Amino acid sequence: MRPTGKLHLGNYMGALHNWVNLQNDYECYFFVADLHALTTDYADPSNILPNTREVMLDYLAAGLDPAKSVLFVQSQVKQHFELPLYLGMITPVGWLERVPSYKDMQENLAEKDLSMYGFLGYPVLMASDILLYQPKYVPVGQDQQAHVELTREVARRFNNFYKLNGEEVLPEPDVLLTPSPKLPGTDGRKMSKSYGNTILLSDPEPEVRKKLKTMVTDPARVRRTDPGDPDKCPVGDLHKVFSSHDTLEKVYAGCRTAGIGCIECKGWAADALVQILNPIQERRAKYSDADVDDVLKDGAARAEARAEQTMAEVRAAMKLA
Ligand code: SF4
Repeated sequence: MRPTGKLHLGNYMGALHNWVNLQNDYECYFFVADLHALTTDYADPSNILPNTREVMLDYLAAGLDPAKSVLFVQSQVKQHFELPLYLGMITPVGWLERVPSYKDMQENLAEKDLSMYGFLGYPVLMASDILLYQPKYVPVGQDQQAHVELTREVARRFNNFYKLNGEEVLPEPDVLLTPSPKLPGTDGRKMSKSYGNTILLSDPEPEVRKKLKTMVTDPARVRRTDPGDPDKCPVGDLHKVFSSHDTLEKVYAGCRTAGIGCIECKGWAADALVQILNPIQERRAKYSDADVDDVLKDGAARAEARAEQTMAEVRAAMKLA
C-alpha cells in the first residue's frame, strides 16, 4: 500500500484483512510503498515518512505478524531501486501508456503535473517490487489484475532475453484473487481517502458513531414512516459486510416495513464496526515507536536477503556480474 495516511475500513476489507489470513498459509512479504508515493507527491514529500509509519502501525494493528510475515518499507531495501532500472531497459513505453490507471490518475489528479518519467514508469517499479521475491502468487483485488498482467509480460520479456544456465530467472506470478466486498463511505460513494468519506481503523468509538449518524441512507426513505430498502442504502451495505445474520434479518424486516428508524439501524451498524475495530485498536496501542523501528529493521534485513538472491541471478543472467 502507498503511505497516504492512516488506513480505513475500505483498505482493511479490500486487502489487509485477506493478508492477515494469507500469512498463515504462505511465506508472505508485505511492504509500504513509499517510493510509489514519490511518483505523485514528488513536489512535497514531507508527509511520506510519517505516513509510512502510520501505515506500518495499521498493518501491525490489523494483525500482520512480523513472526509470520516479512514487513518492511520499500525504500529501505536497495534492490527495489536496482531491478526497476534493468526492467526499465526492456519495457516498451507503449505498454506503460496502456496501463488503465495511467490515464485515470492523470485525470483524477489534474492539479498535479504527472507528465514525469517516474510516474510513467511506476508499473515497472511495481513489477520489480513483485518479481524481486520470485513469488508464486500476488494477492490482489480485481482492480489490480491489470498490473499483475503487465508484471507477467515484463517477466516473460526478461526471460526471453536472458537466461541463467538455460533457466528462467523471473517466474511469472499468478494472481491470487482476494475478495473485496463493496464498502461504501459515509457519503455512499466508494470509501476512499480522496472523497473524505472514510472510517479509519484508528477512529475511536465516539467518532465511528458520529460518522455513522451522518451517513447517507436510502433516498426513498424520507420520513420515519416511509419503508426503505437496505439493498439501496449504504448503511445496508455496511450491515451486509459486518453484521451478524440475526441483525441483518432485523434490518431487512424493520427497514422494509418502516418498523425501525434509520438512527436505530445506524446504531446497530456502529455496534458491528466497533466490534471489528476494538481488537485492532487494542493491538495498535501495544506497539511503541521503538517496536515499530525494530519490526522495520528486521523486516528490511529479511527482505533484502531474499531480494539479493534474485538480484544475484538477474545480474548473472544479464552478464553484468
Ligand atoms: Fe438504511 Fe437502515 Fe435506514 Fe433502511 S433503516 S434506509 S437500511 S439506515
